[in-house]
Amino acid sequence: MRYISTRGLSPSLSFAETVMKGLADDGGLFLPESYPWFGPGERRRWSGLSFQELALEILRPFVDGEIPDGDLASLIRRAYAGFSHPEITPLVRVGNQWILELFHGPTLAFKDVALQFLGRLFEYFLQRDGGFLTILGATSGDTGSAAIHGVRGRERIRIFILHPHGRVSPIQERQMTTVLDDNVHNIAIQGVFDDGQRIVKELFGDAEFRDRWRLGAVNSINWARILAQIIYYAHAWSRVAGEDPEREVVFSVPTGNFGDIFAGYVAQRMGVPIRRLILATNRNDILTRFVHSGTYRTGEVVPTVSPSMDIQVSSNFERYLYHLMGDDGAAVREMMAALNQEGEFAVPSEKFAQVAGIFTARAVGEAETLERIRRTWQESGYLLDPHTAVGVAAAEGESEAICLATAHPAKFGDAVRQAVGFEPELPPPLVGLLDKPARCQILPADAASVKGFMEKTLTVG
Ligand SMILES: *Cc1c(COP(=O)(O)O)cnc(C)c1O
Repeated sequence: MRYISTRGLSPSLSFAETVMKGLADDGGLFLPESYPWFGPGERRRWSGLSFQELALEILRPFVDGEIPDGDLASLIRRAYAGFSHPEITPLVRVGNQWILELFHGPTLAFKDVALQFLGRLFEYFLQRDGGFLTILGATSGDTGSAAIHGVRGRERIRIFILHPHGRVSPIQERQMTTVLDDNVHNIAIQGVFDDGQRIVKELFGDAEFRDRWRLGAVNSINWARILAQIIYYAHAWSRVAGEDPEREVVFSVPTGNFGDIFAGYVAQRMGVPIRRLILATNRNDILTRFVHSGTYRTGEVVPTVSPSMDIQVSSNFERYLYHLMGDDGAAVREMMAALNQEGEFAVPSEKFAQVAGIFTARAVGEAETLERIRRTWQESGYLLDPHTAVGVAAAEGESEAICLATAHPAKFGDAVRQAVGFEPELPPPLVGLLDKPARCQILPADAASVKGFMEKTLTVG
């Protein structure tokens, strides 16, 4: 299987090259040249497979022999060994809906499902091909901790994560800074999240620095992150469908960067009978507006109780756009240029009709999010985190939907307390977290300071 760029100007790459590179040279995102298809006979067998066995089936055609099956199976087993639930991503019946719990990994958010796998993949390719990797990223909370836990202690990998000093929740901060492995370096920037992003961009733009230390990224543009997320769509479907290979389901997906929901779209293209994907956003509703109007227009980011979805430009949306435009890289380049220059673009009406064939969308406000947490607690005794609540609210009126639960409620205890008057009980990974020893470097919000700190650290290590 070869991988191509959504902007159509980069040569195609192998799976290993795609994973190690992250972003294509022409600024586009990688996609496989084609998708494997799982027919009814194959799908019927899925209900008898464990999460790990199904993962092997789903991943195998994409890896396409670049990792021998035995190695891939062992890599999958190790990636999910740290999950606290035997089903890895269990389904729970709540009212007339299913909750797909994706938060049983080490940092209690769904990003663990992909980043635990990606960390193992990086390590595998580095051990096989030699060399090392220096991961650099900025976080507003969830991604940083999941990335750190994905690569902690991994050979040949160092990670530097910037977070805005004093501006992430105490739990989020401690999930990062209490990881004391030698290869993990937390930097608290004296600024805001955007400063961290700007610094990371600047350092990636410094070609000499980038190449010397082999800088790599872990944000959701990496194809392997999407790939790992396809597994739980297939797994959840198999648990609901049992032995009926044509059983259709609806998924409701709380969405920010369009990464998670794009994995659902790919699952459908691979044969999983998904009738519809409900795209659920908070007040940062650029994607909902697109699904309703066909126009993609950026706006101001407003803070909400579901902060991991406070996004106004969704990087993974470009992948969907590429397919929507008939796999046309030139069309994507034009639209991205329009977005940069005019802050918006629109898709032609015949393309827009296709959007409605698979997606519906809803933006859910703050009061409704909290009300949903409260009602679900009162009616079912189940506590939703605020991101999950957005997806559950958007699925209101569906006779049956599978709602993706993207975080454990204890991770966002403040919002839960606002809704129900008490904070959720802390699960084991969070107990005592605030008292554990921590390590973090506080630095001014400029690229030179971060570069200096990194060079000093890397030269010693
Ligand atoms: C990252 C995140 C999301 C949004 O996922 P995307 O892939 O960006 O759409 C939703 N909920 C939580 C808890 C997250 O951490």
